[in-house]
Amino acid sequence: MAAHKSFVFVTRSADETRAIGATVANAVEAGDVILFLADLGAGKTTFVQGLVKALGVNMAALSPTFVIAQTYDGRIPIHHLDFYRLSAKEILEMGAQDYLVGGGEIARGLVLIEWAERCRELWPKERLEISIRIIPKTNHREIKIRGMGKKFANLSIN
Ligand code: ADP
Ligand code: MG
Repeated sequence: MAAHKSFVFVTRSADETRAIGATVANAVEAGDVILFLADLGAGKTTFVQGLVKALGVNMAALSPTFVIAQTYDGRIPIHHLDFYRLSAKEILEMGAQDYLVGGGEIARGLVLIEWAERCRELWPKERLEISIRIIPKTNHREIKIRGMGKKFANLSIN
């Protein structure tokens, strides 16, 4: 069993969360999958903003979260999925697994999934899990980054 490396950060603002997102950009490549596990308003999209900007995506390209799937062209293709309010059945029926595999019309890219808890059937063995917890009555967030599987056994975030 590969060890699960994990890193914990506390951020005090949206910009600090974006900065953590930017550091994660250095640890990923096309084909990787990042699952975001957190409640509404925790900061998943904020984290994604920092991450995709560091991968060379113009911030203006970022759409509101009601879009289920969106691809950005950065240094690598980035598929940003948001399963909010979808059931596992709906997620599988829309072909979300195609983004994880790539091929055909979908370029192999980095896959970011908000509300990944909605469809555990889709979770690959090798993945980064990013859990964000609101520290009550503050703008502080506890962000835990966990590398799962052999590929991320030596994960470093810096
Ligand atoms: P989610 O995608 O998890 O629903 P968003 O990123 O869309 O959450 O929203 C998070 C909100 O919380 C934003 O309005 C952001 O400005 C605010 N916020 C305040 N403090 C933080 C922080 N430390 N990290 C991330 N977001 C924060
Ligand atoms: Mg969001």
